[in-house]
Amino acid sequence: MLPIEGATGRTVQVEGKELIMLGSYSYLDLITHPEIIKVAHDALDKYGAGAGGVRLLTGTTDLHKELERRIADFKRTEDAILYSSGYVTNMTLMSTLFGKDDLVVIDKYDHQSIYDGCILSKADWKRFNHNNLTDLERILKENREKYKRILVVVDGVYSMDGDIAPMPEIIEIAKKYDAFTMVDEAHGIGTIGPNGRGIDDYYDLSPGEVDIYMGTLSKAIPSIGGYIAGDKDMITFLRYASNAFIFSAALPPVSTAVAIKALDIILNDKERIKALQKNIHFFISGLKELGFNTLSSKDTPIIPVIIGNDVKTFKFAKKMKKEGIMIPPIVFPAVPRDGGRLRCCVMATHTEEDLKYILDKMEKIGKDLGVI
Ligand code: PMP
Repeated sequence: MLPIEGATGRTVQVEGKELIMLGSYSYLDLITHPEIIKVAHDALDKYGAGAGGVRLLTGTTDLHKELERRIADFKRTEDAILYSSGYVTNMTLMSTLFGKDDLVVIDKYDHQSIYDGCILSKADWKRFNHNNLTDLERILKENREKYKRILVVVDGVYSMDGDIAPMPEIIEIAKKYDAFTMVDEAHGIGTIGPNGRGIDDYYDLSPGEVDIYMGTLSKAIPSIGGYIAGDKDMITFLRYASNAFIFSAALPPVSTAVAIKALDIILNDKERIKALQKNIHFFISGLKELGFNTLSSKDTPIIPVIIGNDVKTFKFAKKMKKEGIMIPPIVFPAVPRDGGRLRCCVMATHTEEDLKYILDKMEKIGKDLGVI
């Protein structure tokens, strides 16, 4: 919880010193984008500081309606619903839509909020080994007759490993066993696919191939909140049946306006997405050339650098900070024991000089600590 003394961008101020940020979810670096700041100011002037109610009563503004419509357009679905955070979105979804007689099948590396959603739901749940299609199919085959409905849930981009779910194959298997599919796109929005539109854009999926899209507004979109996008009837049902919508306050209008503008920027500023993807590929190939283990991350801004034991991981991050680079060490239980890593997050605005400087320092520290 190292306090950052100002805005998070390509660089941050920590303890009075400027550090290059290499661990932020702000992949497109939109937190201080002038158009974002302007809509935030304008929304604050017009709507004030908060919504003052839950959505079903007095908390809905025209901005909330517009954002839901924009998300639905962005994901090419019929409708979308907002929640107060990505975490809450996953928590509430599973318990609202699935219950007794149903089964939720999740990837072992799915986000904690998906696990917690399963725990809250009255449905049974099972895990399949990470990105392992054979294991997924085995579970569906063994259980199809035992349950009324089955939901398969994956992260589009895995937050600790930076790899991508093999979605076309997952959809095919799910269809074979008449199961629904859901993708958590927390890290895929604004980052993967030629237009930054996420998993469907990356694999060129047709609308409707994934049943439920879930996402957050807290990563490439520099705000707060979560959403579900999908079929109109499902979204209408969620509006009247999901507790996190009914019993929790609406997003502040400022955060809502920011998210609308961020979607505009993602759709229109193709150069920013291209710059991010160029940086991703440059950085991964640099790390690989140096001999670092980056698992199978290849097209996402989450690039894990495996260090191994916890102490060494902390030492590595500390030395990086001394060199002017902020990178969070990730250790057990967030990742498997001895899977300690630096989870590098590349941004669209990192310059080639930044990345070369980082690679240079990582080479030196990596050799000192015997990682490479
Ligand atoms: N899903 C995934 C895959 C995430 O990584 C996160 C946040 N780290 C969330 C959901 C929760 O989103 P939020 O932080 O907006 O609550």
